[in-house]
Amino acid sequence: MNHPYKTRAGGATVTVFVPYDCRNNCPFCVNKQEYANCAGFSVDKIIESIRVVDSITPECDVVFTGGEPFANLDSLQRMLDAVPKTHKVYINTTFPVQPGCGAEEMLAFTEKNKDKITCINVSRHVDPYVEESPDEIVGQIATPKRINCVLYMDYPSDKLKDFTERWRKYNIPIQFRYDYTETTPENLYEEENDPILQDLKRQFTYMGLDGCRMRNGFHFRYKDLHMTYHKTLPYSTIVETDENGVTYDILYDILIKQTGELHSDWTGVKLDVEKYRNVVFEPYDLKVLDGTIDY
Ligand code: SF4
Repeated sequence: MNHPYKTRAGGATVTVFVPYDCRNNCPFCVNKQEYANCAGFSVDKIIESIRVVDSITPECDVVFTGGEPFANLDSLQRMLDAVPKTHKVYINTTFPVQPGCGAEEMLAFTEKNKDKITCINVSRHVDPYVEESPDEIVGQIATPKRINCVLYMDYPSDKLKDFTERWRKYNIPIQFRYDYTETTPENLYEEENDPILQDLKRQFTYMGLDGCRMRNGFHFRYKDLHMTYHKTLPYSTIVETDENGVTYDILYDILIKQTGELHSDWTGVKLDVEKYRNVVFEPYDLKVLDGTIDY
């Protein structure tokens, strides 16, 4: 079905897949296969697509992910420089231990670009899957930062408090993440039968919930540290008919693939750019649904 597009005020988040891989093999990774064949990967094409989406939604959020954004600082610099300052910019990284580019160089990059980067999200898991740079290095990242931690399969629940103390030392908030390949519209807001949520509620102080059709966050406090348990659906388009009987594809995320190709969903659907130029905006439906999330 060919529906007109709708998105939230400001525009759908644009996720850019950097055109170079990480050196890891995390068991829950859904991106790795996209880097198996790098034919057609192009920084220039990605930059062209950044310019296209900027011309349509000049204030949308932009997320660089991978692969590993910090694996090639020159290319990351070029892509960052292509994003005007009207956008918030996030980078998902392991802040890697890698040959040819040491921690000092990566830290200098964060210092140089701190006015351009809203937050750097560093992946760290309770049991590590990758060779990790020292915590003190993560603590020295010059931008705001957050730890992203996937609670995967039978994660070691008894290590959660130590993990939290580890980052509290640097005052870095943690986002715990559900394995989103398992999320469905039925279990997105499920509480009683979500063992991870119940586990977090036992160990930490539950403060509140915010969410929208697509994703949510259960907020917790441990001593003075803010933590979130994040769940999101494994796709990013919701088909909905409004009160006038018009059916829309409501877009939450747009992707720029490693080749520069624009997609309207994580599921391989290409973006119709001309249609997106006529996108209808609605107020963002993310709301506080319970308790408080500001503390
Ligand atoms: S570091 Fe990220 S991209 Fe690389 S294997 Fe792990 S989850 Fe996948």
